[in-house]
Amino acid sequence: MTSTNDIRRSFLDYFASNYHAEIASAPLVPFSDPTLMFVNAGMVPFKNAFTGLETPPAPRATSSQKCVRAGGKHNDLDNVGYTARHHTFFEMLGNFSFGDYFKEQAIHHAWTLLTKEWGLDANRLTATVYHTDDEAFDLWKKIAGLPEERIIRIPTKDNFWAMGSDGPCGPCSEIFYDHGEHIWGGPPGSPEEDGDRFVEIWNLVFMQFQQEADEIVADLPKPSIDTGMGIERIAAVMQGVHDNYDTDTFKALIGASESLTGVKAEGAQQASHRVIADHLRSTSFLLADGVLPSNEGRGYVLRRIMRRAMRHAHLLGASEPLMHRLVPALVTEMGQAYPELVRGQALIQEVLEREETQFRRTLQNGLKLLDEATADMGEGGTLPGETAFKLYDTYGFPYDLTEDALRNRGIGVDKDGFDEAMAQQKAAARAAWKGSGEAASEEIWFDIAEREGSTEFTGYSSTTGEAAV
Ligand code: ATP
Ligand code: MG
Ligand code: MG
Ligand code: MG
Repeated sequence: MTSTNDIRRSFLDYFASNYHAEIASAPLVPFSDPTLMFVNAGMVPFKNAFTGLETPPAPRATSSQKCVRAGGKHNDLDNVGYTARHHTFFEMLGNFSFGDYFKEQAIHHAWTLLTKEWGLDANRLTATVYHTDDEAFDLWKKIAGLPEERIIRIPTKDNFWAMGSDGPCGPCSEIFYDHGEHIWGGPPGSPEEDGDRFVEIWNLVFMQFQQEADEIVADLPKPSIDTGMGIERIAAVMQGVHDNYDTDTFKALIGASESLTGVKAEGAQQASHRVIADHLRSTSFLLADGVLPSNEGRGYVLRRIMRRAMRHAHLLGASEPLMHRLVPALVTEMGQAYPELVRGQALIQEVLEREETQFRRTLQNGLKLLDEATADMGEGGTLPGETAFKLYDTYGFPYDLTEDALRNRGIGVDKDGFDEAMAQQKAAARAAWKGSGEAASEEIWFDIAEREGSTEFTGYSSTTGEAAV
């Protein structure tokens, strides 16, 4: 079996031997992009190199980039534990050409690596192209020898990438792996595409146009390449399993939580173990990159993820804080590739333990309230927004944790009611401040907060995290 660590090495070595500079993963907190919550694609650290604002590190580069998709445009938080292929934290393997090679070599490299170096069965691979991209269609035929019915033209935005309304853009081509007939699902573009049979493993982005106000205005003088492949998905393929959570890294993490809780990852408990393993990775890597739990901004996203995991630990019957005791297993699996985990281990463990100790104080009572409030509800029921707000305000339950807690029972949450209760509390707080007769500074503060948006966490739907792949 090829380990995930070997796959990472082999990917980087393949591209290094093809004259790509190996670039270390950037931290998860983007340093040159305030619009973005977390780095969510391999190209993010190279954005300015693609637009020409910065000189690229080399004409060709390759990296294994840490990514988090738990907020903003790409939010996979609710998928975790329920699909075979989504994580909040994952590694994106990528190769990049900054005005150097273009479509033909990008397809050549992807195909050579997958089928020659790694020996994947070509019959299980399908490619998509943007519907008007005849050039890519012909290249897949010529280079890979794919029959026409396995080069699927997709007319939607899924196969057209843009950095924003202004900037570079272009068609993309995605490579799917067919895990076999025994799994429900159909090829991309088919009515069954949402199934898990065909899994997208690699996205090749061909940056070739310049866009202004969402209109293509010119060809880029030097077209570029940006690709991204999720290491956990390719590891599943190469290790002969369907589910990312059955790969070596996750098996080790889930094994650790099984032995610490004494509960097997089977039946209803499986999702809890998976959520814990996934969230252990995202929280530990975020802590290693300097994010700390708080009630706003990035820190609140971190806290939300932590608390979700902690509820699942509680579900498994953990009578003491669990998360920090799993960190050594993570360091064993990933510390060599990401030394920041080793450097940060003590801090990560300390913060996780403190948070879990603190949250456990209110968790039990909050869950009791939740049980009582939903005792008479069956599938299709809705928890009143006010109750969700009370759980948030008094018991420290992030909104999405409440949603996650009711998901198994098919009960929803009244989001509008929750937002309204939140708005009411803010208005009341404001009135209270006014009534305090304090100086004008508070007025000014509230004005700024109103204009610029409160610093309190109110959701990230407005954050446009643009990422290439
Ligand atoms: P999907 O359609 O499966 O959600 P995507 O189209 O959103 O994937 P891209 O933005 O194209 O994904 O990212 C490039 C690659 O990164 C994907 O082909 C996949 O291998 C991987 N990837 C994307 N999101 C995740 C995730 N949440 N967890 C693990 N791997 C991911
Ligand atoms: Mg996605
Ligand atoms: Mg996709
Ligand atoms: Mg994609």
